[in-house]
Amino acid sequence: MSFDPETTTFLIAGPVRIHPRVLRAMSTPSLNHRGDYFHGVVQEIRELLPVAFGTKGHQLVLSGSGTAGLEAVYSSLLPRDGRALVVTNGNFGDRSDAIVRRFAPEVTTVRAPWGQGLPVEAVRAELERGGVRAVCVVHNETSVGLVNDLAAIAPAVRSSGALFLVDGISAVAGIPLPIESWGIDAVVAGSQKGLAAPAGLALVHLSDRAVAALHPGSYYLDLAAHLRSLEKNDTPWTPAVPLFLALAEALRLLKEEGLERRLARTHRLAEASRAAAGALGLALFPDPRYASDTVTALRNPDGLGDPQVRKTLEKEYNILVQGGQGELVGKIFRLGHMGIADWPDLLVTFAALERILGQHGRLPRPGAALAEVVARMP
Ligand code: PLP
Repeated sequence: MSFDPETTTFLIAGPVRIHPRVLRAMSTPSLNHRGDYFHGVVQEIRELLPVAFGTKGHQLVLSGSGTAGLEAVYSSLLPRDGRALVVTNGNFGDRSDAIVRRFAPEVTTVRAPWGQGLPVEAVRAELERGGVRAVCVVHNETSVGLVNDLAAIAPAVRSSGALFLVDGISAVAGIPLPIESWGIDAVVAGSQKGLAAPAGLALVHLSDRAVAALHPGSYYLDLAAHLRSLEKNDTPWTPAVPLFLALAEALRLLKEEGLERRLARTHRLAEASRAAAGALGLALFPDPRYASDTVTALRNPDGLGDPQVRKTLEKEYNILVQGGQGELVGKIFRLGHMGIADWPDLLVTFAALERILGQHGRLPRPGAALAEVVARMP
């Protein structure tokens, strides 16, 4: 077997596999983006966005990948005076730090090593020092397969009065994110992750407080302008029309499944992946207490690297998983199991991993990984 993008078992950490209904929804003739039909699509998306975010609020869709959503939030909400606090323990936290530094006059960055839990005490100490006007943090650090325990810092952020700005790009519709009880002011989601829509759209949720604090920053990504247009089911500039059509269908699918059921399925797939990896003798990269439910990051076995593991999965088994980023290139591989990923994906992937490790004489117990998956299937 060799790699074939049309039939591959697709488990990268986003973009994720797209349901044929969503693919078909994009295949339409050109539409007038100022016409009634498209206004109807935007209206339906607006009505469905609370299904994805799990709550109502000021919610909108931007043409542009997740980073556009982050840039929109940071450019429209970071204080022009006072401090912004960025917390990072992975590649995407570092990315937020770089974006925040373009827009905030004073930035403090609190770091933990990649893959380690959120540095809660250091965050609290910075908040107590005073003057923090916004806290920026990634909920699910896709680069290292780690979920940040935002509940541990939420009360301190709230009592400090700072805006709480969350990169939820690979968390929304994959991991529980109780926006209201954690007092979050802005969440950015990416279309290509838990929502299983094509890449290229950013979804943004804003609290009342965030809307009141919006100020002009970027022209294209001016959130106030987008919200004003949305009142008329419109967008300020020409939107990515085919992607909006696909998103509407992906949101319909999510509504049919239900957010709770999608989160529960994603969680079970994650538990099965972790148990199966353990049976193969593969170690999790992140601190296991904070292992993500949408992405499982595993260390390559000693002496084996991308050519033996990830590239063999791709070339010989037609299975795509993702490699490491930055300093982790060649050291880890990542399985994305969010969106519409399902049990057959895990069965095929862990069967292939068993065979690969067996061929290298590194398989502890034949059949054990598959047994772990099967034991967790509904
Ligand atoms: N933040 C997180 C947590 C991500 O997972 C990603 C993409 O994987 C990004 C930011 C960047 O998003 P995009 O590549 O859609 O611009």
